[in-house]
Amino acid sequence: MGKIIAVANQKGGVGKTTSAVNLSACLAHLDYKVLLVDIDPQGNATSGVGVNKADIDRCIYNVLVEDMRADEVSVPTTVKNLDVIPATIQLAGAEIELVPTISREVRLKKALDSSVEKYDFIIIDCPPSLGLLTLNSLTAADSVLIPVQCEYYALEGLSQLLNTIRLVQKHLNKHLMIEGVLLTMLDARTNLGLQVIDEVKKYFRDKVYQSIIPRNVRLGEAPSHGQPIITYDPKSRGADVYLDLAKEVIENGERIRERN
Ligand code: ADP
Ligand code: MG
Repeated sequence: MGKIIAVANQKGGVGKTTSAVNLSACLAHLDYKVLLVDIDPQGNATSGVGVNKADIDRCIYNVLVEDMRADEVSVPTTVKNLDVIPATIQLAGAEIELVPTISREVRLKKALDSSVEKYDFIIIDCPPSLGLLTLNSLTAADSVLIPVQCEYYALEGLSQLLNTIRLVQKHLNKHLMIEGVLLTMLDARTNLGLQVIDEVKKYFRDKVYQSIIPRNVRLGEAPSHGQPIITYDPKSRGADVYLDLAKEVIENGERIRERN
């Protein structure tokens, strides 16, 4: 059974898409079968793995609004072992179209049911809001990975996210767990970054990944070439650290399985 991880934080620009794309690609590089689900109307994860939005006629919209199965919409990427369910701007209307529909929060979960056996990991890139698209993701997921940018107001807004997670646990998905908190875009030259690390670790303790993503020019460039960092520049610091993160995610999963 594949593990479903939602990458969520309602703040924009904290590294959700970068982390979803690169964690997926690194897991695939380590020989796991991975499905990346783009559920953000901006479709940045889709183009980040080299899928041209102009070339596709089906996307996550058809899954959520028209009940298509995940495997009817997913497409292979240039990365071995990695498929993607793309998102196009069509998705922007979905949140409103879903409002009057039955079981509107469980549509993604149902659509993924037929695919969990096929993949080792399903990674969902959430939009920067706590609306129906993110709710669908949290309802479908086994766990949430929360990217937190190493900046002054890092923790601001996280209580809202944690509150939403608690509500989902209570009403929609009682098994939802926090997978981990990922510190992103660290500028090691400043003290501020180190202070933020301390602060986030005080709050989330052992939920914070040891892998901390530095600000890295190559990570910022890779999306414009339609490639994850592991193929764009496998020798870069960015590739190293996302590979370390992928190993942590695998090890955490194994530890939990041993405990159960
Ligand atoms: P989100 O999905 O949370 O909105 P993104 O992953 O799209 O955030 O990141 C926002 C911007 O910052 C993008 O332009 C991305 O390329 C860039 N970026 C993200 N992480 C890094 C990093 N570690 N180093 C350099 N640039 C980064
Ligand atoms: Mg994004």
